[in-house]
Amino acid sequence: MSAVQPIDAPTPAAASCDVVIVGAGFAGLYMLHRLRGLGFTARVYEQGDGVGGTWYWNRYPGARCDVESMQYSYSFSEDLQQEWDWSERYAAQPEILRYANHVANRFGLRSDIQFKTRVDRAVFDEAADRWSVTLSDGQMVRAQFVVLATGCLSNARMPDIKGLAGFKGAVYHTGKWPHHDVDFAGRRVGVIGTGSSAIQSIPIIAEQATHLTVFQRTPNYSIPARNAPLTDDERDAFRARYPEVRRFAREVARNGIYTELPDRGALDDAESDRRAKYEARWQRGGLTFMSVYNNLALDMAANDTAAGFVREKITEIVKDPGTARLLQPDTYPIGTKRICIDTDYFATFNRPNVTLVDIKANPIEDILPDAVRLADGTKVALDALVLATGFDAMTGSVARIDIRGRNGQTLNHKWAEGPKTYLGLMSAGFPNLFLITGPGSPSVLSNMMVSIEQHVDWIADCLGVMRDRGLVTMEAKRDAEETWVAHVNEVAKGTLYPQANSWYMGANIPGKPRVFMPYIGGVGVYRQICNDVAARGYEGFLMAPAEVVRKAAAV
Ligand code: FAD
Ligand code: NAP
Repeated sequence: MSAVQPIDAPTPAAASCDVVIVGAGFAGLYMLHRLRGLGFTARVYEQGDGVGGTWYWNRYPGARCDVESMQYSYSFSEDLQQEWDWSERYAAQPEILRYANHVANRFGLRSDIQFKTRVDRAVFDEAADRWSVTLSDGQMVRAQFVVLATGCLSNARMPDIKGLAGFKGAVYHTGKWPHHDVDFAGRRVGVIGTGSSAIQSIPIIAEQATHLTVFQRTPNYSIPARNAPLTDDERDAFRARYPEVRRFAREVARNGIYTELPDRGALDDAESDRRAKYEARWQRGGLTFMSVYNNLALDMAANDTAAGFVREKITEIVKDPGTARLLQPDTYPIGTKRICIDTDYFATFNRPNVTLVDIKANPIEDILPDAVRLADGTKVALDALVLATGFDAMTGSVARIDIRGRNGQTLNHKWAEGPKTYLGLMSAGFPNLFLITGPGSPSVLSNMMVSIEQHVDWIADCLGVMRDRGLVTMEAKRDAEETWVAHVNEVAKGTLYPQANSWYMGANIPGKPRVFMPYIGGVGVYRQICNDVAARGYEGFLMAPAEVVRKAAAV
């Protein structure tokens, strides 16, 4: 029997469960595991034909995590974290996908996951307090709750370039890479874009291709990954410290990553000390470069010192001064677009078979059947095109579902001027609909595993409380939501982040509202806020028992 007492019997044609979970990435898998543990019936629908989400779709050469694997992994099961052996400091995509599959098998999750099935529509039936969820195979499912575990970087964006559809060579998007091996040997390849996906794939494609042309609109700051195999001793040492590492990542760190916390700002050190610290982090490699000082995201003068250091490194590495200059970002502060982590990215431009084309100065005019044509008439002949053009981030996959809440209002209409949520977890007017790592939460500014686990745990605990108290619906109050949205904006405004045309701002999608979407307050602070809200009886949320809902429906 269903763990939550239904108010109305489901329509005969519809399957029914307590919770529909959309997406079988790390968020959807853990959500299913937690809900099952609480005795809820839950069903996951996933459009791909396997688990893993990001790691199922992004199979481009060089794809790997940029948060170290010992931390970019689940912490909810002590056995799991003790038994899984990560082979490298930053595991590559196939290994992370194996891990996702291992988790699905180990916890017996597959029987409640339906693959190759999109959720197209979700309509809240106010009379029954149930969601009616329409699937791509035409089936309908009725559920008390819907959890959108749809991912923040799961809606690959095809660039709007004239002639693209007529290109006769092969076209690949990094975020929707084929499942078969792609061999670029003997081919002239063009990569459009220079974000993280491009920066990881370019060095490898360059080794295979006859010639590689990189079409760059905006250069990126990138720090060496210094990836290396992990030894047994390193893994053991890390595992022994797991309780402290995980606690720190959850409660103390701003970004969910265990690392030393800076005790000073960049301008508090003399130039020589500052350089020494940047150099040490550059040599150590990885995302924590931005944690050398505590004001790099806040103070432009401080930020300039780190940005200048990276620009100098680019000059040192890249032999051709013109190419080095083009690769140096100087139009936005370092870290305000997601910083990249690379293996030999800048050095790749020293190869004789690699050309950098500045499409800011000389934009792509159109794509011909066999070439990219630039505004000045130059034709770059190509056999294959790699689109590393990113995602409609944070809201893109949610927007593709036709979600209708109270009074038939669509979520897309409500979010037309930017996403509005309370705590990034719910949106007013859409009862019993939860988002995991939604806009308004730390989400993409963090080690996503930390943020995913926190949201899943909070939602699971909340559903348990509702069941225990006989509560049927829960929704964000409008005033609480408005206050939260204002707070998210206020915190963002106090930083340098809004200065970049980043996907955090929606700036990569023409016509998308420019709103800073994630919450910059830090995962520790945010967790405390969420815990306090729950401890105060889910303050800011309206929770109603069955009788209230029935009476309201009868009026
Ligand atoms: P996803 O993994 O995106 O899974 C969402 C799933 O929902 C997808 O499988 C999708 O097919 C499915 N879905 C969406 N809409 C529907 C629908 N309507 N119907 C059915 N199914 C649907 N984060 C880090 O913290 N560290 C990293 O090192 C890191 N590296 C990354 C590397 C790449 C290349 C990318 C693109 C992202 C990276 N991220 C990283 C962010 C990454 O997205 C998260 O870490 C995490 O994997 C997200 O898990 P998720 O389950 O929330 O979403
Ligand atoms: P991205 O950061 O959004 O980069 C997209 C690139 O394509 C940018 O250089 C962009 O230029 C360019 N571009 C977009 N549309 C274009 C067009 N029409 N014409 C020319 N150029 C165009 O996307 P991404 O590289 O896929 O990364 C997205 C996020 O995924 C990352 O920020 C990160 O969070 C995650 N990720 C992580 C890793 C990792 O290291 N683990 C790897 C890949 C991705 P502009 O900058 O000028 O818009």
